[in-house]
Amino acid sequence: LTEHNARHVWHPMAHPAEMRANPPVIISGGEGTEIIDIDGKRLLDGVGGLWNVNLGYSCDPVKQAITAQLNELPYYSAFRGTTNGPLIELSVALAEFFAPDGMVRSFFTSGGSDSVETALRLARQFHKLNGQAERTKFVSLKKGYHGTHFGGASVNGNQNFRRAYEPLLPGTIHLAAPYAYRNPFNTDDPKVIAECIVQQFADEIAFHGADTIAALIMEPVLGAGGVIVPHEGLMPSLRSLCDKHGILLIADEVITAFGRTGAWSGSRLWGVKPDLMCTAKAITNGYFPFGAVMIGSRVADVFEADRTAMGSIGHGYTYSGHPVGAAAAIACLAETIKKDLPSNAAARGVELFDGLEALKERYPLVGDVRGMGLMCAMELVSNREDKTPVGKDTVAKVYKGAYEAGVMVRTSGNNIILSPTLIITSQDVARILEALQAGLKAAGN
Ligand code: PMP
Repeated sequence: LTEHNARHVWHPMAHPAEMRANPPVIISGGEGTEIIDIDGKRLLDGVGGLWNVNLGYSCDPVKQAITAQLNELPYYSAFRGTTNGPLIELSVALAEFFAPDGMVRSFFTSGGSDSVETALRLARQFHKLNGQAERTKFVSLKKGYHGTHFGGASVNGNQNFRRAYEPLLPGTIHLAAPYAYRNPFNTDDPKVIAECIVQQFADEIAFHGADTIAALIMEPVLGAGGVIVPHEGLMPSLRSLCDKHGILLIADEVITAFGRTGAWSGSRLWGVKPDLMCTAKAITNGYFPFGAVMIGSRVADVFEADRTAMGSIGHGYTYSGHPVGAAAAIACLAETIKKDLPSNAAARGVELFDGLEALKERYPLVGDVRGMGLMCAMELVSNREDKTPVGKDTVAKVYKGAYEAGVMVRTSGNNIILSPTLIITSQDVARILEALQAGLKAAGN
């Protein structure tokens, strides 16, 4: 299997040669909060799949909903002339779930990148319908991650994810990341950093002209960029500037929707109502590729008022509103509410964060720890004074040490990322922390 994998699989974000030198772990089972490798080794999943398996690997109501729907209607398109029951039921449940965020309609997709692309397209189309066709530019934050499609890659805040695919969308504006540990503002005060970013946005609006800007897209808590938690004032202040200048706000909640930060949505965490909200990942607990762009009334009303445009939206996916995905999502939503997952994410998140802080006290390799709910990161440095990031080898040693101690973690640059399932217990948190300690020791710290 390992040789076939090395020869025939093109793994995302890994060089084929690396697959031979360092074969990936073959995962063959999952139960509760754990995954099981092909040799039968059980690992506590500190990654929650890929930030998406909120309910763990044995969520029977979701499995049953998928099976029942497969037997009832495994697929039919949900374009103009046809629809299906689960899709309608889900749209009602989502409208209720996201009502406090101001959302009224859902546009269904097959995943996060599709959701981002859809939101960017809807933003431009919204302005065209409003007679402002010149509003085409997008603004985003450095360190933001918004998927792989051309629109999403254009607003991606990490130039390593853009370089190979240029030229991308022209006129994309990247504001600074709200990254207290490293930033160009010569401060570690999150409030000051937020104020600087808001000022930057105001300056960019003045420079480009508000009437050229379609939308600002941001993650309420930045995930793949290394779990960056902005100051509470950032998103509300950016919302105010958007309002002042007729710019739409797109919340990329592919990770943060459905409880991971400890709030029901990332926008609610900061008390902000976006115009469009991208969701995917935990919407089906990872059991089925699915996503939804939630649409606020400001956007929905303009589309609904324009009779010609409603009939000519040139946009939809073969799997928009897939009945099996929709059935899975209905069950996930019900389980998320029944189990009150955000409360557990908040409580376990505090324990995890405090434990990471304690590791930072003891191990000089840990330069910074960050987190909100069950989105946490530990940034590794070889020198705390000048914050020199550690090399790949050291990160790999920490990863391997944690793996050998029975916990799967994720690495991203010089960060160790933790995003376990939201059903973990305090004992599970302790297990993660012990494994990380073993990893730090293995790295010679
Ligand atoms: N947006 C955010 C914030 C994400 O974290 C991701 C995936 N990590 C995406 C978009 C893209 O989602 P997908 O991988 O499902 O296409």
